[in-house]
Amino acid sequence: MLRIVVLGAAAGGGVPQWNCGCPVCRTARSEQPDLQSTQASIAVSCDGTNWFLVNASPDLRQQLTATPQLHPKHGQLRHSPIAGVILTNGEIDAITGLLSLREGSPFSVYAHARVLDILRDNSIFNVLGEKNVKRLPIEVDRPFEPALPDGAPSGIEVLAFPVPGKGAWYLEGKAHPTGGDAAGDTLGLRIADKASGKYFFFLAACARATDELKHRIKGAPLVFFDGTVWRDDELIVAGLGQKTGQGMGHIAMSGKDGAIESLAGLDIARKVFLHINNSNPVLLNGSHERRHAEQAGWLIPADGTEIVL
Ligand SMILES: [Zn+2]
Repeated sequence: MLRIVVLGAAAGGGVPQWNCGCPVCRTARSEQPDLQSTQASIAVSCDGTNWFLVNASPDLRQQLTATPQLHPKHGQLRHSPIAGVILTNGEIDAITGLLSLREGSPFSVYAHARVLDILRDNSIFNVLGEKNVKRLPIEVDRPFEPALPDGAPSGIEVLAFPVPGKGAWYLEGKAHPTGGDAAGDTLGLRIADKASGKYFFFLAACARATDELKHRIKGAPLVFFDGTVWRDDELIVAGLGQKTGQGMGHIAMSGKDGAIESLAGLDIARKVFLHINNSNPVLLNGSHERRHAEQAGWLIPADGTEIVL
């Protein structure tokens, strides 16, 4: 069995974003507080006891408080069910939650060498001491089984693979510690329960649905997919910014090459958008974008949504 909890569904900045007065952010602050959403991350477990986070968002502390599955075990003075954190990129909304896990509990961080280099290069992450927090490199296309803090096998198999994306935004125009933009800056994950064989894909950042990617995820029971923007020029049209979705390394939901069209007909049982930006009208209940996405079989999850495979 695989249990997956959506800790947060929003893109960087969350909903509402601190400095944003767009229609979604305004509605989330006033008449529809249930639109509020924290930054994208999921928790995964195959035994219901030990959990792995996929990415650690700046909202992690709030997410852990809101998620009973991730509370310390009753009767223990110091404990966390979090056995490890798997990072799929080096963006602020994927890594800074690590700083909230700094109280001496043992766990492991798994990331591509390029992302580990970013952590190494930023000394603030040294607050996670080597003694308690191991940093382990992920090699693409080579499945691995993350371990529990006592070294026991977790029963979960993770396969990471490169997907079209971009390096971390804050490194744009600056030297990446490893150099250049390259495969490994953005990873997709296939996560499986070794005992039951149940599996799903995590692709919260993806710039294009290539034929190779479509082939890989065809027939999957569950796919979490990049839902950052509804249309590529959404931020520009709304007057919120100068970047396109593509410019940020994110596919749009709509359009001929968008996620909805690209993943249609791939026989995927459950499709869930994640990393949804506050500018995206799909967040508004009753919007035609929301109806379109739902009619195409997509779920727009609320924080705390649990899916069991
Ligand atoms: Zn906004």
